[in-house]
This record gives sequence, C-alpha cells and structure tokens, in this order.
Amino acid sequence: MSSIHFMCWRCDQPLKLNQSTETPGLDATQASAASALASAEGAPRETQEGGPTSREETDSDELQDGASCRTLPGDGRMSGDSSNYFILLGKLSSVRTLNSIQKAARDIFDILSSEKAVNQPLCEDCTDNLLLQLDSQLVLTASESENYQRFLETRERMSEDERETLQEELKGLELEEARLVQELEEVDKNRERAAADLKAAQAETEMLDQHDRQFWRDYSQLKWQQLELHDELRSVENRLRHAQTQLDWLEKINVFSVTFEIGHSGPVGVINNFRLGCLPSVPVCWEEINAAWGQTALLLLALSNTIGLQFQRYRLVPCGDHSYLKSVRDDSIELPLFCTGRQGAFPNDKFDRAMDKFDRAMVAFLDCLQHFNKEAKKGESGLCLPHRIHVSKGLMEDPGGGGAFYSIRTHFNTEERWTKALKLMLVNFKWSLAWVSLRCRQK
Ligand SMILES: [Zn+2]
Repeated sequence: MSSIHFMCWRCDQPLKLNQSTETPGLDATQASAASALASAEGAPRETQEGGPTSREETDSDELQDGASCRTLPGDGRMSGDSSNYFILLGKLSSVRTLNSIQKAARDIFDILSSEKAVNQPLCEDCTDNLLLQLDSQLVLTASESENYQRFLETRERMSEDERETLQEELKGLELEEARLVQELEEVDKNRERAAADLKAAQAETEMLDQHDRQFWRDYSQLKWQQLELHDELRSVENRLRHAQTQLDWLEKINVFSVTFEIGHSGPVGVINNFRLGCLPSVPVCWEEINAAWGQTALLLLALSNTIGLQFQRYRLVPCGDHSYLKSVRDDSIELPLFCTGRQGAFPNDKFDRAMDKFDRAMVAFLDCLQHFNKEAKKGESGLCLPHRIHVSKGLMEDPGGGGAFYSIRTHFNTEERWTKALKLMLVNFKWSLAWVSLRCRQK
C-alpha cells in the first residue's frame, strides 16, 4: 500500500497514488526499473548500504530531495510558489518499490514541471477538465492558423494594384479610427460633464426636497394654528352672541324697578319688603323700619346720581339699617337715619335725645328729596310729585285727603300720622322711579 500523497492544485483534494498511477511514468523506464528491482532482489542484503531502516530513511530523503518539496508542520501545506511544490503525506514504508517509486515520482514531477502552463499535481476530474480546455484551445488555434494560411496565400496571389488599393483602404480606416478615437474622447468628456451636471442636479434635488419637507412642516404647523384660531374665533363669537343676548335682555329691564320695589301693606308703605312705619295694630320692629330707611336712602342717592345731582346741605350715606346723613358744612354732624328704641315705644311728647336726632335726620332726608324734586322739575318733561313737601316743618301734604299735612317727625306725633307721612313720601319715590326709568329709556 502506497504512502505517497499529493494534493490537487485546483480543488485541494488529496491525491492518492495507486499502483497504476504510481507507475505511469514507468512506460519509458520500465525496463530499467524492472532490472533495478531484479538486481535489488537478487543481490544479497548485505550488499545494501545499511539496514532496511537506514535505507528507508535514505530513500525518503532522496525522494523528498528529488521532489523538491518540503513538509510543513500543522496542515502540511506548502509555502512559496505553490505551482512548484506539493505535499507528501504519510511515510514510506515499503522497501520493495523505493527505487521505482522514487524514479516514477521524479519522472511524473519532471513531466508535470516541464509544462509551465499547467499547475500540478491535479486530480482526475481537474485533469479531464483541463484536457477539454486544451482541446478547445487547440481547435481554435488550428482554425486561426488556417485563416492565417489562407490570408497569406491570398496576399501572395494579389497584384500590386490590389495591394496598393488595400493599403489605401487601410490608411483610410486608420484615419477613421483616429477620428473615432477623438470622437470617443469627446464623448467621454461629454459624459464627464453630464455626470458632473447630474451630481449638481442631484444635490439641488436633495436641497429642494429638504425645502419641500420644511415647507410641509411649516404648512402643517400653520394649518394647526389656523384650526386653533378658528376654534377660538367660534368660541368668541358664541360668547359674543351670548353677551349680546344678555345685553338685549338687560336693556329691556328697568334697573330701578327691578332693584327697588315700592308698595304698601295696608296703611304702611313697603320698600323691598321692608315696612316703613308702624301702627298700634300693626307693630313693626325698629330693625325693619331702619332697614326700610336704608333702602329709601339708597334709592334717593341712586336717583340723584342718575340726574347728576349733588346735595348742597347733606350727604347721604346708605348703610343698611344703620344709614345716616352727614352735614356738608360740618363733617362732625352725623344724623342717624335709624332708631334703636323698643318696639312700639313711640316717644310721643317726651323729649328723647336719640329720637330728636332721628327726627332731624328724617327732616334732612326730606330736604334732600325736595332738592331732587326741584332739580327733576326742570325741563319740559319735568317731574311733578303728587305730594308736596314742606321741609321747614317736616310735613308731607296729601292733596287727596283734603290738603291734610302729616309730620315726618316722631315728636308730638302719632304712629298713624307718622306712618302716613312716610307712605306719602314713598309714593313720591314711586313717581320719581317711574320718571327716571322713562328718562333712561328715552336716552
Ligand atoms: Zn482536482
């Protein structure tokens, strides 16, 4: 069994040399090899140099030297020019064919190495492929050779004129070639220019794309803002419509008649549900009367402000059930428009300091009302109150009651007359309210 191995140069398959492949090169040297083998077998072993082991080593060395190869550690591949090296695998174990194997391998290597165009060694498949290629090359070369031969014969048969004609034609063709080469160079330059233009156009396209994307981003943002503003506008319009409706409704409302409601509860006048006055049969606590006075003072102040009137002698300070008047001349004089006495305790003819102040405050209030009346009387559509006011005496005149007078003071007065005077005063206020409301609507 042979232990010499090669690797195919093309496909790297390991090659195993069998008996038939080990000896193809022996065709030429078969006789000498056979004789050598015979002499080797016929000669006594003592004539051989060294024992079998030393001979094997020698043969191995020789074989490796002859094959001009060297074994590398590791994968056993060769370094350097791979076309001139191959690998030996395994070890030489047989003494029997050492010489013949050595010669055969050397011959094979020489044959293969002599063909420089072919790298070796090769496996059977690669060799078949190589042979096919070489066959086709041979056919091609033969065909070319025939062509050359034919052209050569044609040339020899040609006359001088024909040669000159062909020479001329060749020159023309060379000129044409030169022209075409020049044209090709022009085309190349044009191509380079076009490539540069294309590059510039692509850069411009990229820039325009960026602008386009930015434009759409801006557009979306503005569209979003537009939608938001549109929503806001709709909201504002709705609020405006609501406010307009409210305004229309409020314009139809008489603020005085809504704010101040004047009526009566039998003989007692009532303002904003507070009774102003009291009777022995209709007891009213002072807190309610004081509150009614506060509402009345607020009404007079609102009326005077509406016509732009400033009172000359007193300043009204409406303050609920603790309203009062202040003297314009002397700021220290404060007249309370409220009473803190017990319910039903009308002072009659007994002098009471607090009630006196209260009386003076009510007279001062009448003074203010008279002032307003004088101011409201002016003009064509002046106010004409139904009950005359006598400020100096603090009296209210009732023309419907036979020209009777009723004092607004509590001193030397009765509850019935005092309450009647207050009721007449409230009637005057009701007329004043109507007059001011009409005046406001006309404006
Ligand atoms: Zn191969």
